[in-house]
Amino acid sequence: MSFAALWESLLPIGRDGSSGGYRRFSWTPEDAACRAWFTRAAAERDLRVLTDRNGNLWAWWDPPGDAVPQAGAKAVVTGSHLDSVPDGGAFDGPLGVVSAFAAVDVLRERGHAPVRPLGIAAFSEEEGARFGVACLGSRLLSGAIDPGTARALPDAAGVTLAEAMAAAGHDPEGIGPDGDLLAAVGAYVELHVEQGRALANLDAAIGIGEQIWPHGRWRLDFTGRPDHAGTATLADRRDPMLPFAAAVLAARQAAAAHGALATVGRVIAEPGAVNAVSARVSAWLDARGPDELVLRAVVDQVLTAAREAAASHHVELEAGPESVTPAVCFDPGLRERLASSLAARGIQAPVLPTGAGHDAGVLAARIPTAMLFVRNPTGVSHSPAEHAEPADCASGVQALAAVLEDLAWG
Ligand SMILES: [Zn+2]
Repeated sequence: MSFAALWESLLPIGRDGSSGGYRRFSWTPEDAACRAWFTRAAAERDLRVLTDRNGNLWAWWDPPGDAVPQAGAKAVVTGSHLDSVPDGGAFDGPLGVVSAFAAVDVLRERGHAPVRPLGIAAFSEEEGARFGVACLGSRLLSGAIDPGTARALPDAAGVTLAEAMAAAGHDPEGIGPDGDLLAAVGAYVELHVEQGRALANLDAAIGIGEQIWPHGRWRLDFTGRPDHAGTATLADRRDPMLPFAAAVLAARQAAAAHGALATVGRVIAEPGAVNAVSARVSAWLDARGPDELVLRAVVDQVLTAAREAAASHHVELEAGPESVTPAVCFDPGLRERLASSLAARGIQAPVLPTGAGHDAGVLAARIPTAMLFVRNPTGVSHSPAEHAEPADCASGVQALAAVLEDLAWG
C-alpha cells in the first residue's frame, strides 16, 4: 500500500540528528521542503494543488467538469498539518496528511471520480511553534485572528510573520478570512494520532472525536533586577526566578485540584548567566480544562499565586493571554455519519474527548468538522517517542477512505 512509501519519503525532512525529533517550523527551509513533498504527492495523483492566501496547502480531486470548488459545492476535505513543535514526533500532523493521500489511493483504485470535490489540506503553523499562535493558518482562513495582528507576530529572533512569509515567497498582504473557500467546503474530517492512551485502554485502533477541551496559552513576564550571584545579599535581591518558580508549582497544584491540565513548557531567563541573578524571566503557561469555568479557575489560581510571589520578591509581573480557544464540540451530524460509515464496515470506533487543539476545532466555528484518532500505544506526543503501529496506521487509512467515500460519493 502507498502509505509506507509516502511516510518514508516525508520522514527525513526536518529531523534533528541528535534528538531524533522534528523541527518543522513555518516558513523555514524545512517547511518549504514539506510543501514540496506535498506538491509532489499531489502531482503523482493528478491532484490540483493550490496555496491559499494564508499559506495553507490544498490538493483537489475534482469531479468531472468542475475545476474550482464553488460556494455550495459541499466539497469534502481531509488533512492535517506538517509543522511540528520543537523536537516533536513524526506523527502529530503528518499522519493525517499522509493518510489522506493514501486514502485517495484506495478510492482511486475504485476507478471513478467523486461526486463532490475531494480536497486534502495541510494547514500552516498549526503548532504555533514559531509565531506563538496555535492553528494560525486555520484561524486566518476562518477569520478567528485579525490579519494585521497576525502579520506583526514575531518569532524568537524578532522576525515577523509578514517578513517570514515574504522571505519564503508568499505575499503577506493577502492573508485574512477566505469566505469563498470556506463556502465551498461541506465537511472537514481530520485524522490525527491520539495524544493520550484512551484508545490503547479501550483496545481500539480508531476513535472518533467528540469535543476539544477549552485551552489557551498565557505569557508571564517577571522583571527583577540583575545582580551578582556572589555579592548581592539575599535580602537585597529582586530575583524574578523565584516568583516564576512559584507560578510553575501553582500551575501543577491548580490543575490537580480542578481535574485539568497546566504546563509551563517554555521559559527564557535573561541574561541567562550562571553567576548572576536574572533581570527577567519570561514563561508560557499552557492550560486546558473540561469546561471554561474550570479553565478560568485554574488560570486565575496560577496568576494570583504568581502576582503574590512577585510582590513579595519586589518583582514586576506582566501577564496575559496569547491565545484562548473555547470548548469545541464537533458537528454531531457529521460525527454520526462517521460512526455509521465505520460501523457499516465493521470498524469499532469509540467516541473520545481530547485536550489537544486542532485545525478541525478552529474550523468548527465555520463549517462542519469531525476527527478520527489513531491509537498511540504509549500516549506520548510532542516528543520523538510519539508512535503509532503500522497496522493501526493502515486501519486509519481504511477508516478515512470509508468516511470519504460515503461523504464524497454518497
Ligand atoms: Zn497536530
